Amino acid sequence: MNEVLDKKIIGIDLGGTSAKFAILNQQGKIQEKWSIKTDTSNDGQLIVHDIIESIKQQLELSELSTEDFIGIGMGSPGTVNQANGTVTGAYNLNWKNPQPIRQQIELAFGLPFFIDNDANLAALGEQWLGAGNNEPDVVFVTLGTGVGGGLVSDKNVLRGAMDAAGEIGHLTIEINGYTCTCGKKGCLEQYTSATGIERMARDMADAFKNDSSLLKKKIENGKTIDTKMIFDLAKENDKLANKVVDRAAVYLGIALGNVANLLNPSTIVLGGGVSKAGQFLAEKVNKEMQHFLFPTIREYTKVRIAELGNDAGVIGAASLVLNELLKK
Ligand code: ZN
Repeated sequence: MNEVLDKKIIGIDLGGTSAKFAILNQQGKIQEKWSIKTDTSNDGQLIVHDIIESIKQQLELSELSTEDFIGIGMGSPGTVNQANGTVTGAYNLNWKNPQPIRQQIELAFGLPFFIDNDANLAALGEQWLGAGNNEPDVVFVTLGTGVGGGLVSDKNVLRGAMDAAGEIGHLTIEINGYTCTCGKKGCLEQYTSATGIERMARDMADAFKNDSSLLKKKIENGKTIDTKMIFDLAKENDKLANKVVDRAAVYLGIALGNVANLLNPSTIVLGGGVSKAGQFLAEKVNKEMQHFLFPTIREYTKVRIAELGNDAGVIGAASLVLNELLKK
């Protein structure tokens, strides 16, 4: 038996409200998982300390030692500097200055440590064991309160010159469109995030003349609307809801078509809260995207819904460790 192949990996998925942990084998199977609350007080200075303590406790509980592991992988919000193992600009963690995360964690455990942006790791997770079916070229798009993305090319994350590649949410899909939080106009995020879809619905309700729409009635009566309601009504053939969903699908079609023309992924995976609309959304986006694909890749590029849910991050963290160790 090959002892190295039996060793495990620790995956960490750090977020603004909780840090999720998993112990995985080298096939990406989760053997144990747990989570702790993220304590963002004191400029987030307790976060890494809490992560280290939590891992130590879990190893003791599971009667494991650092000898049983080949490495630790971690996803973090903010801008991750791969070379230095630091994170900057993670505002939901209250981290204002660069955080020397690799240094702290390697010091605590003496294991190789690799870190990446959380969206990149979700992309790696879905590429490996989720909707990407371990195909080497997969694009992951998360449609949540914002729109983010991760580009996996030949099984590796494309990071770009400033570790800033994959900002699919800020692709321009409408000239002089809604102003984005980034300062630019017409970004995809303003139309296809949960908040973007809800705003489109309210704006489109004003100009919509057909009174038979329940969505229009709800908006006019000042009722709160959400993305799930819009999709549910669209599935029931509500005219306004369908117009809103179709428009979101066109914008996604333009953006993903351009991404596919550039990167030629086999699969584009849709994740995040909006993707709970499921096959209904995937089919519409896939249909629209076909109009924007150049002939060679038309009919070939698939749009699929993410499969790993909250586990994508820790599974991606394990994938990162394996990828990076393989390069060494
Ligand atoms: Zn933007």
